[in-house]
Amino acid sequence: MQSLKINLNQIADPAKKMFNHLPNLLPVIAIFLLAFAFSILGNYYHTQSAVKKDGEEIVGMLEQYIDRTASELYLLNKRLSGRCTEQDKLNLRAHAFRSEFIKEVGIYKDGFVVCTSNEGPSTIPIPNDVIDRIHASKKQVTISIDDSTSHLSTFFVYASINNSWGLNVLLPPERFTNLISQRLKASGYQYKLTILDHELNNADHVPYLAHFAFESTLYPFKLQLNPTSSTYQYHYFSNIWQTILVASLFSLVYLVIGYQLLAKRSIEFNLKNAIRNDLIELYLQPIVDINLNTVVGSEALVRWKHPIQGHISPDIFIPLAEKLGIIDSLTEKMLSMVALFLQNNPKYQKTKYVSVNVSRMSLVDDHFYLSLKKFAKRYPDFVNSILLEVTENIDFDQKQLKLALTNLKQIKNLGFHLAIDDFGTGYSGLNFIRLHSFQVMKIDQVFIKSLYSESSITPVLVSMIQLAKELDMKVIAEGVETEQQIELLRKLGVSYIQGYYYSYPVKPQELIKLSEQPEYTQYSDVPA
Ligand code: C2E
Ligand code: MG
Ligand code: MG
Repeated sequence: MQSLKINLNQIADPAKKMFNHLPNLLPVIAIFLLAFAFSILGNYYHTQSAVKKDGEEIVGMLEQYIDRTASELYLLNKRLSGRCTEQDKLNLRAHAFRSEFIKEVGIYKDGFVVCTSNEGPSTIPIPNDVIDRIHASKKQVTISIDDSTSHLSTFFVYASINNSWGLNVLLPPERFTNLISQRLKASGYQYKLTILDHELNNADHVPYLAHFAFESTLYPFKLQLNPTSSTYQYHYFSNIWQTILVASLFSLVYLVIGYQLLAKRSIEFNLKNAIRNDLIELYLQPIVDINLNTVVGSEALVRWKHPIQGHISPDIFIPLAEKLGIIDSLTEKMLSMVALFLQNNPKYQKTKYVSVNVSRMSLVDDHFYLSLKKFAKRYPDFVNSILLEVTENIDFDQKQLKLALTNLKQIKNLGFHLAIDDFGTGYSGLNFIRLHSFQVMKIDQVFIKSLYSESSITPVLVSMIQLAKELDMKVIAEGVETEQQIELLRKLGVSYIQGYYYSYPVKPQELIKLSEQPEYTQYSDVPA
C-alpha cells in the first residue's frame, strides 16, 4: 500500500508540474491546431492539383509504353524479309517468345495480316477504322482492342513501316492496366481506363461522371480518375511533415519572441540595461553634525525607476545585482557620478565628504580593488573626500576573510576612508571591526528605532559607542527620525546624525542647497 502511494506521488508530481506549465503551452497547442486546420483545407486543393498531375503523368506513361512497343517492332522488322518465309516466322516467334506478355506478333500488308508468329502465312482482315487511324497518326502507330471469339479481349499495337505494310503485336489488356493500377491504388484512386469504347478495368464503383478525365492526344484511350477519401488521406499524410515543420517554426518564433518580451519586462534585463545606459540616479542624504548644525557629508544612495514597475528599493535590486555579477559595474557607476558631483561642486568637495556603499561581494573581488585604483589615479584629489561603507554582516569563510582584509588594507592605502555600515546587525559580532581599522562606525537604524527615554537598547548603544571610542572611530547614527532620538543620542555622545529628521535622500543640486545653509534646520520632503 505504501509503495503504491509512493508510486502514485511519483506520477502525480511531474503531472502537476506539467499542468502548471500548461498555460505556456496553450498557444503552442493552438498554433499546431491552426496549422492542422489550414493544412486540411490546403490538402483539398493540393489533392485536386495532384490528381491533374497524376492523370497527365499516367497518360504519358501509357503513351511511352506504346511507343516503346512500336520501337521494338521496328527493330524486329530489320530481321524480316516481309515474305513470310520460314525464317520470318521463326523471327516473329522468337520475338513473341522473348516477351513475357506478347501473345502474338504479325506482319500486315494492304489491310490484311499476312503472317503471324503462331500460324505463319494467313489472311486476317484488319478493320478499316484501324487502317484509318494508322494513316491519321503522326507516328504511324495506333492501338486497338478486340473481343475475340473466346470472349477474351486482346490489345493490339500497330506500327506501320510504310503506307501499305507494317507489324502488329497482340497483348493481354491487363498488361496495359497493370502498368498503372499499382500506382493508382496506392494513391487510393477510383479509375476507369477506356480504349476506344472498351472499358479495361472493372469500374462499377466509379460514378458515371468522373471528376477528372484525361485523354491521350496520340492514341485512342482515356483515363478517368476519381480521388477518394483514401486519396485525400494519402496526400495529407505524405505532406504532413510540412505542416509539422511550419507549426514548429511558428511555435519556435512564438517562444523566442515571448521569451524576449518576458526578459525585457524582467527586472534583471532592465537592471543590466539601466546600469549600462546610465539610467540609474544618484541621490544624496546629508549627514549632520548636531553640535554645529552643519552638513559634514552625505551618503550616495542609488535610485532606479523600472520602466513598468516604477521605483524599486535598493534593498531589492542590490542583492539582485550581486547575484547577477553586475554589482561592481553599479559601484563604478556610482563612483563616477560622485566624482562628477565633486567636480561640479568644488566648495563642497573641499569641506565635506561623500560616502559610497560597497557590496561585501566586492571585497573578495580583485577586479573591484583595481577599479578603485584606476579611480584614484584619475581623481587623486577626490579620494580623500570619499568614505567607503562596508556592511558588517559579512558571512565570509576563512579564505574570503583573509582576502577581504588584504583588499581593505590596499583600499586604505589608496587613500579612501572606510566605514563599517549597519553596525550591530552582523553575525561576525565585534570581531570584524577589530581585524581592520575603520574610521567610521554607522550604527544601524534598528537600534535608533527602539531608542526612547527608558528603552532597554540604551546600554547596547552605550557599549557600541564605547567600542568606537576605543578604536578611535567616529560614530554616525542612522535612521534618526525624531527630536527625542537626537537628544538621547546627544547625551550618549553621538555627534553625527543621518535620518529623515533632517532630510530624505535628495538630488545632488538639492543637497548642495542644504549643505550651504549656515545653520542646518529640519528639512522635509517626500522620500525618494
Ligand atoms: P544603507 O547603506 O544603510 O543606507 C541607509 C538607508 O536607510 C537608505 O535606504 C536610506 O534611505 C534609509 N534611511 C535614511 N534615513 C532614514 C530614516 O530616518 N528612517 C528610515 N526608515 N530609513 C532611513 P535606501 O536608500 O533604501 O538603501 C537601502 C540600502 O541599499 C542601503 O542601506 C545600502 O545597503 C543599499 N544601497 C543603497 N545604495 C547603494 C549603492 O549605491 N551601492 C550598494 N552596494 N548598496 C546600496
Ligand atoms: Mg550605507
Ligand atoms: Mg546603513
